[in-house]
Amino acid sequence: MNLENIDIVMVGTTHPGNIGAAARAMHNMCISNLVLVNPQCPIGEIAYARASGANVILDSLRKAGSLQEAVQDSILVVATSARDRSLPWPELSPGLVAKKIAELNGQSRVALVFGREHSGLTNEELQICHYTVNIPTNPDFSSLNVASAIQVMCYEIFKTVGNQPETRQTEIQECAVTSQQLEGFFRHLEQVMITTEFLDRENPGLLMQRLRRLYHRLEMSKNEVDILRGILSSVEKYKNQDPSSPGDSEDSR
Ligand code: SAH
Repeated sequence: MNLENIDIVMVGTTHPGNIGAAARAMHNMCISNLVLVNPQCPIGEIAYARASGANVILDSLRKAGSLQEAVQDSILVVATSARDRSLPWPELSPGLVAKKIAELNGQSRVALVFGREHSGLTNEELQICHYTVNIPTNPDFSSLNVASAIQVMCYEIFKTVGNQPETRQTEIQECAVTSQQLEGFFRHLEQVMITTEFLDRENPGLLMQRLRRLYHRLEMSKNEVDILRGILSSVEKYKNQDPSSPGDSEDSR
């Protein structure tokens, strides 16, 4: 069973006990990469006490300054969330997340992202993620302790990956696009839309969020992203070269 490609990412965690309990939950399920984004507490005695011997996870954890930095090499980034969002994001069940991870056969990095104890993930952080997953609960009391949520997700993955027959990696997986490459595409797209005045920098609305949601849903390959960036570059070249190009100036028509 290969679970080495899975990163458990905790964002802005405030209580060291939750980091320790998360380490324990992960070690129970053979998942070992813990990444802390801007932890708001020391990883000391309290964390080690709650880890109950899962010291190896705490000793080898990685820290990152932002969620984007933490997930840059991942081809699948899944946000866990206890609540509905104003702009609904594509959602998977815990079982489907585990299935997607199992299908990758340990060949590509994936990240499961967990939010702050009091406020979860920000909308900006959510937009970096391809999907959200909600653990079904009592609708009147839906917020799990963050380490409990990590336990549930790690168990789902452990169970599913353990039962998955070894298969060959598919072509799509071989050239899957990483989060860093996708973010480069989003920056490029935004820049070109500002240049062509499709996007009003002063009044952007939800355009970029909607486009992010669309492109995340497509699960594009590296090749496909390269084609889209090539098209964007051709628009930039056209705009720079031809002063009478449509959209350059309303007055010239
Ligand atoms: N009040 C916060 C809840 C945070 S709970 C909010 O409004 O989002 C801390 C973290 O635990 C969440 O960000 C999420 O990562 C995880 N979590 C808690 N309950 C969950 C659930 N039912 N499904 C999925 N993740 C959950």
